[in-house]
Amino acid sequence: MKMLLQDAVREQPLLGDGAMGTQLMIAGLEQGNCGEAWNLTHPERVLAIQRRYVEAGSDCLITNTFGGSRIMLTRHSEADHVVEVNKAGVEVAREAFGAKDGYVLGDIGPFGGLLQPFGEFTVEQVRSAFEEQAGALVDAGADAIIIETQTSLEELLIGIEAAQAAGSKCIIGSMAYDVTLDGSTFRTMMGIEPERAAEFMEEHGAHIVALNCGTGMEMERARDAVERYKRVTKLPVMVQPNAGKPQLINMKVVYDETPEQMVKGLLPLLKTGANIVGSCCGSTPEHIRAFRKVMDEFLASQSIEVNGGVRESQNL
Ligand SMILES: [Zn+2]
Repeated sequence: MKMLLQDAVREQPLLGDGAMGTQLMIAGLEQGNCGEAWNLTHPERVLAIQRRYVEAGSDCLITNTFGGSRIMLTRHSEADHVVEVNKAGVEVAREAFGAKDGYVLGDIGPFGGLLQPFGEFTVEQVRSAFEEQAGALVDAGADAIIIETQTSLEELLIGIEAAQAAGSKCIIGSMAYDVTLDGSTFRTMMGIEPERAAEFMEEHGAHIVALNCGTGMEMERARDAVERYKRVTKLPVMVQPNAGKPQLINMKVVYDETPEQMVKGLLPLLKTGANIVGSCCGSTPEHIRAFRKVMDEFLASQSIEVNGGVRESQNL
């Protein structure tokens, strides 16, 4: 039987994938349209993107279901297709792996609003939307659920509990941090610091603590975040920084970090003990290919250390 993701990454770090949203745009999705609906209407295009990530060396693929909750799909008049969209998302990712035994991470993104009393949504509405989505992802065979780009612990908890209710064997909580104006530290939009997030996730039964996206959270900052997580938890850590900062060029959002620039930060990240490394907005299969090369060199150097009896930089 396949090892659980949280156990596999304790043996050696795994490589995640890169962006989906910006890749869908390149494949013809127009801004503001529903990318998740493509799992049903253009599965071959989603498959082509994920195949490129597998060819580049990804061990884990995140399903194209970021906005696949009922609340998000209702905004695109796709509420009739919640289960199908999520099921197809898992199937496409599994197909992209072909014969490779990779991990399919069922993606749950933010519901895209605020909870009462700040916003119009009740906890029960969000819970029911996340439970429905998590259920569809797990039933379709996702190896894990990742609740990502989270900024509030309240919403994160609803996601974790929904994944538990769905019977997911691996639950990943992933926060989006922003560097503060003075540049001294980073926290989520709702003011959550990484130590607090990691402790909270462990306390509520998540298996892997993660960060993704964010503002100003490039490779160097991501390494800081991994260190801060590792100080308070023994859970594995997953990290997916953006490919630099978004710039508006000709009314298009472009991310400015090349694979060569970004990959410079990878070795320090691996040495800090990151267990899954991928990347978020703006990254491409070329970024992941560059990551694969450095990760393979890192793994080879580790096995030399093991053989020489000086296994000290193991990723536990
Ligand atoms: Zn992102």
